[in-house]
Amino acid sequence: MRSPRRCSRNGCPRQAVATLTYVYNESTAVVGPLAAFAEPHTYDLCEPHARSLTAPRGWDVVRHEGEFEPPPPTTDDLVALAEAVREAARPAPPRPDEIENDPHSGPQTGRRGHLRVIPPSH
Ligand SMILES: [Zn+2]
Repeated sequence: MRSPRRCSRNGCPRQAVATLTYVYNESTAVVGPLAAFAEPHTYDLCEPHARSLTAPRGWDVVRHEGEFEPPPPTTDDLVALAEAVREAARPAPPRPDEIENDPHSGPQTGRRGHLRVIPPSH
């Protein structure tokens, strides 16, 4: 049997019943049923922490509205969503305490100059 997973919040001794996943490129935090496997860019949370989670400024939270409990294997829609976004969240996983910065300073468009092709002179 697996040993129960703990909440990932500092100093919290409670058992994890939910998994938080950050979808960085959509600025969305998904709180879903406990994931089957712990992954580096997901965070297990106990029920009080899962319910009290608030998104950083500019982020949305998608929260599982049912009971949080150590889940039997089900094919819940939200599980599927959480798995899908977990796949999409591979690059640049933020830590929860590091994403207070503005997430909208996106990639810069490197458009520069109005270059023309000058035909070679003979
Ligand atoms: Zn906790």
